[in-house]
Amino acid sequence: MTAISVDADNPSIIAALGRRVLSGGQISRDEALRLFQLETSADILDLLSWSNRIREKFKGNKIHLCSIVNAKAGACSENCSFCAQSSHYQTGSPKYGFVDPEPVADAAAEADKNHVTAVGLVAAWKGLNEGPLLDEVCDRIKELKSGGKTRPDASLGIIKKQAVANRLKEAGLECYGHNLESSRRFFPQTCSTHTYDERLETIGYLKKSGIKICSGGIIGMGESREDRCDLAFELKAIGANVVPVNILNPIPGTPFAKNEPLPVLEILKTIACFRFILPRQEIMIAGGRTVNLRDAQSMVFMAGASALMVGNYLTTLNQSVEKDLQMLKDLGLDPNWDSHDFSDQEEKACGCDQEICQTETVPE
Ligand code: SF4
Repeated sequence: MTAISVDADNPSIIAALGRRVLSGGQISRDEALRLFQLETSADILDLLSWSNRIREKFKGNKIHLCSIVNAKAGACSENCSFCAQSSHYQTGSPKYGFVDPEPVADAAAEADKNHVTAVGLVAAWKGLNEGPLLDEVCDRIKELKSGGKTRPDASLGIIKKQAVANRLKEAGLECYGHNLESSRRFFPQTCSTHTYDERLETIGYLKKSGIKICSGGIIGMGESREDRCDLAFELKAIGANVVPVNILNPIPGTPFAKNEPLPVLEILKTIACFRFILPRQEIMIAGGRTVNLRDAQSMVFMAGASALMVGNYLTTLNQSVEKDLQMLKDLGLDPNWDSHDFSDQEEKACGCDQEICQTETVPE
């Protein structure tokens, strides 16, 4: 007699949840957790075939590309355990003050040439207050805005006042990067110099000023699958427009230096689960892609990614932009956007009138 696999129900559960999301419905935390717990490669690849359909339905074949300029490097007061730029660890990462106009202009020109949708100014410091530095930041944003069709973005840490967010908006900032990093439960293991609530407060000020939100996290820090699931639901609750998924690249000298890398299928499954939970958002594969996924990088789109950080990361290298553009072309994906205003993310109710859509029920 043939043994029945304990996973025998999985294909029908995955298909039911996939059909529900495709028809405009949502999945609950418990249902999502069931997907995060899938173990076999057969089940995970089955999940990917559905996350690919969901990406195609809600994002078409467009891929949003982002690049970043390190606008102020190293010597950061914060102690984020994954970060090469924290002054709490000896990492050999470069250190310099706030950037002059030229490198920003060069990054914008390079981005225009490579069909990159957005260029983000990223600064290694705790946060941004009113004062001369904010004036300088606003000048760089204005220069980026007037320089070409690439969208000016920024990631400048914690904001404590509505006036700061308003100034950034007035300067032309369209989207702000501020990761939640992980679940509220796991966050204290990543950083103790600021809190999860300070990050949420910052996002609140930015949203109020009309700036779009780029917020995601890092996987592979030692968090559980439940933590990853809860992060995705937190990002849904805050209405993140772009969701960067970083995969830990352990940096010598940091507390996470000896973390075991996540298996490739676990990474792809996590991206797929994010796509089920966040069907309309830009799910962007950011830091750690090349080192963790190697030859499987192109599978991130099948897993549901619709955005890619290209060019080098803040302190580590990426594969060349030319190679990334070739990868997209080979997959029939298109990085060309005339403008990207996130209007494709507006929720349209499926009509079932339930908080969690029940248009497709899951087999018991
Ligand atoms: S992640 Fe940002 S806030 Fe944390 S240490 Fe690095 S640069 Fe500082």
